[in-house]
Amino acid sequence: MSGKRRCIVWFRQDLRLHDNEALHDALKHADELLFVYVFDTRWFHAETRFGFRKTGAHRAKFIIESVEDLRQSLRAMGAELIVRVGKPEEEIYRLADEAKTSWVFCNRERTQEEVDVQDALEEKLWTIGQELRFSRGKMLYYTADLPFPVNHTPDVFSQFRKEVERYIKIRKPLPVPSDLPSADLKTINVGNMPTLQSLGYEVPEKEERTVLDFVGGESAALERLFYYLWDTDLAKTYKETRNGLVGGDYSTKFSAWLAQGCISPKRIYSELKKYEDERGKNKSTYWIFFELLWRDFFRLMGKKYDNLIFLEGGTKQEKNPAWRNDYNLLQKWIDGKTGIPFIDANMLEIKYTGFMSNRGRQNVASFLVKDLKVNWQMGAEYFESILIDYDPTSNWGNWNYVAGVGSDPREDRYFNILKQARNYDPEGTYVKLWLPELADLPSDKVHRPYCLSFDEQGKYGVKLGGNYPKPIINPKKWERGR
Ligand code: FAD
Repeated sequence: MSGKRRCIVWFRQDLRLHDNEALHDALKHADELLFVYVFDTRWFHAETRFGFRKTGAHRAKFIIESVEDLRQSLRAMGAELIVRVGKPEEEIYRLADEAKTSWVFCNRERTQEEVDVQDALEEKLWTIGQELRFSRGKMLYYTADLPFPVNHTPDVFSQFRKEVERYIKIRKPLPVPSDLPSADLKTINVGNMPTLQSLGYEVPEKEERTVLDFVGGESAALERLFYYLWDTDLAKTYKETRNGLVGGDYSTKFSAWLAQGCISPKRIYSELKKYEDERGKNKSTYWIFFELLWRDFFRLMGKKYDNLIFLEGGTKQEKNPAWRNDYNLLQKWIDGKTGIPFIDANMLEIKYTGFMSNRGRQNVASFLVKDLKVNWQMGAEYFESILIDYDPTSNWGNWNYVAGVGSDPREDRYFNILKQARNYDPEGTYVKLWLPELADLPSDKVHRPYCLSFDEQGKYGVKLGGNYPKPIINPKKWERGR
């Protein structure tokens, strides 16, 4: 040991060098840094309560790519990323002991499973006289800057938005450090990157219909940011296009990178401001910020209500007696076999790609909870497993909202799926993309194959109960416009 102060920077859902507060804090305290990422085997091997694999293949792939990109970026700066597969509280503890560090720095997580891990590590570090130091930086806003204590965060989004917009200035993102003084790693095994197969996954098949070829990592995230703003000016029309369903351009697609921390929301915001200064501000550029605020809002709801967001009664603590743990209906929903084309198309998209539009998510969630009366937690867990952009508070917060157990001020929010399908997919382009068996149906019939006469079924090549299922609920109520 050289007598220099050493510390570990533990990367978690902050897989980036820009605007990384833990990294900056570590640089302030230590002379030599070790950089570590642990593939937590529990996230990859465990099952959720209702039997889904905790992390689906699309997200697992995205995480591996993100860690690999981080490793390359560190190497380009003369540093190295130590990679482990196991439990962070054991792997990092071992490393801290072996390398005789003084501290471990990380960005704090707030949801239970992540908190359990950081607590366990903290306790182990104490036994060797070391400390876990927490930094922040997941949100646009710092909790310290909020005009209210976290436990008084307004439950209504619009009130939250008005207050933060009125009183707080978003801080500038921290730059990528110019120098990373790394510890001598000669005696430390830097570890190999795991593959999807070594983590127990099959490589997902390439799906041509995906909205985007999502590639994990800070480099790809920044590329996407520049594409959406500077290369294409898509930011200028976001408000008009954001309810789209097909292709990469209708919305930013930042979510997967945000979820793994490959990009920080403050970085997006600062680029957006620069864009507005140079190319003009309009409702659309504002609306990207507005949507990012939802992310902060749900994170604050998670902090305020703690584990309630995961429980059946949600933050409202109100269960609906009609909800059932109906695995049969759940499976039909998952497999896109409900007989309601707009639902089935969306469920096939998420199954094959790990992504679904926001419009789709709201509809399929509402359908599961309000029409099929299935316990919303089953849907939320499926999303947790399958989504490429799964983020605990965004996912569970949104499900709370749709299920009516969150802080939505509107009572009994309900989606008329037929109306939604006609509004957002008027020609049936989206439905036909995912359900080619409906390809020959004219646009006025594509969302209601269940109304086809026997002759029409023959004419359009659709056989109800044959190549396309009969509806599992009575869709007549939607005809009345409710
Ligand atoms: P854009 O429309 O381009 O929005 C820009 C960014 O704003 C997004 O990347 C996201 O970070 C944020 N954002 C937008 N809408 C929301 C919202 N309603 N809640 C929170 N943040 C939002 N988003 C996730 O990131 N992870 C999830 O696990 C997740 N689960 C969801 C579950 C349900 C039932 C619903 C209805 C929504 C969920 N969302 C989730 C929110 C939203 O659907 C996605 O953020 C969005 O579709 C991602 O696409 P985008 O990046 O192109 O979004």
